[in-house]
Amino acid sequence: MSKILKTNKSKELFDRAQNSILGGVASSLHKSPYDEYPIYIERGKGSKIYDVDGNEYIDYTMGFAPMILGYCPPAIGDAVKKQIDKGSQFAFPTESLIGISEKITKIIPCADMVTFPTTGTEANMWAFRAVRAFTGKDKIIKFEGHYHGRSDEQMISFAQESLKMMGPRNKPWKTLGSAGQLEKALENIIVLPWNDLEILKTTIKRQKHEIAAVITEPIMLNCEPVFPKPGYLEGLRKITEENEILLIFDEIITGFRLSLGGAQEYYHVTPDICSFGKAVAGGFQFAAVAGKREIMESGAHFGGTFNGNPIALAACRATIGELEKPGVYEYMAKLTQKLIDGINEMTKNQNITLYCDGIESIWQIAFGIKEKITDYRDNFKVNKMDYQRFRKGCLERGVMLHPSRGRLYASAAHTDDDVDKTLLIVEEVFGKMFMH
Ligand code: PMP
Repeated sequence: MSKILKTNKSKELFDRAQNSILGGVASSLHKSPYDEYPIYIERGKGSKIYDVDGNEYIDYTMGFAPMILGYCPPAIGDAVKKQIDKGSQFAFPTESLIGISEKITKIIPCADMVTFPTTGTEANMWAFRAVRAFTGKDKIIKFEGHYHGRSDEQMISFAQESLKMMGPRNKPWKTLGSAGQLEKALENIIVLPWNDLEILKTTIKRQKHEIAAVITEPIMLNCEPVFPKPGYLEGLRKITEENEILLIFDEIITGFRLSLGGAQEYYHVTPDICSFGKAVAGGFQFAAVAGKREIMESGAHFGGTFNGNPIALAACRATIGELEKPGVYEYMAKLTQKLIDGINEMTKNQNITLYCDGIESIWQIAFGIKEKITDYRDNFKVNKMDYQRFRKGCLERGVMLHPSRGRLYASAAHTDDDVDKTLLIVEEVFGKMFMH
């Protein structure tokens, strides 16, 4: 029987925080809507995070993906400390900027050139500008449930709360995601269901003269993860190419996670332009847009105070150095698979409806389904309340999972021991949830 952790101080801090911080947290995702209060974290080391009450958690949120090497990896710490002593920010370029750019253009298949904003949101906003500037066309196809950031155009048709809000599948309704979001932003975004080449073909046939680009997450990771059907990404590439429409891969999560070259290297499908973020600097704020020279040079403005920040560059170089070491990806994938296999083994002959799967160091757990789902609409089949019961049970026993959906990450710092402990805890939680 595992220890049930106490989190009284987090509760006190949340009471205090709400007076001065919007929502009591820095990002709406830092507190699950199902929780009374969030867990306030004091520090992290390796695969673990430690909260203000002194509790230790084996973590599978990994800072929402950036911490691919775990918390406080020495190589990144050393590189960053060295740069801090030289200056943390300049109004001028540094030589390290060129080194990283040369490296990234070698690593990422579609990259002739690169530019470095700070966040994924900015990276995709820049990609939108570049494809419009290059093609002279305004409309962009995005898919239901895909998340590309927080701008007015990016937050369209993301995280709808019910199937009723989505309209007919072959011509989905476009939905807004935030108070204050301009309705006008809907004008140039076409929304389609993902994993469906027929609807894409029909739409492109009708509107190709006004469509600049299609943007996609190569794996739909911002709901219960959905994998591309076999041949889907290849089909996307073929249809866009044949119709002179550009293809943008949003690799903010898949970049450096599936492989150093991202999903485009992993699946052997090369987009025209892509965005990378999160894991690229192992926990520091950094993003990249990379693509074909003529698109990158289309005249889209590329300012930003913290663009190419030297600390982020140092962290990025150190992250690449660590990920290039032989066996790192294989290690993460093997460990993740051990976790998935362990969970599936546990539920094999039990009356538990659950789907657990993964790819490289990304894994998912979804209740209420037995098989892969194929688009955002299927996501409503998932039993979210069971996930919340599961997450809470794990949290109380020292395993930290994503606050609202079963999309999880391992890192190079996770160990066999972490996985073994996690599996014991998962078994105990399943026992509480399902075996009466
Ligand atoms: N694209 C994808 C696929 C993402 O997952 C995210 C963030 N979750 C973004 C873009 C936006 O990135 P950021 O939060 O760094 O602005």
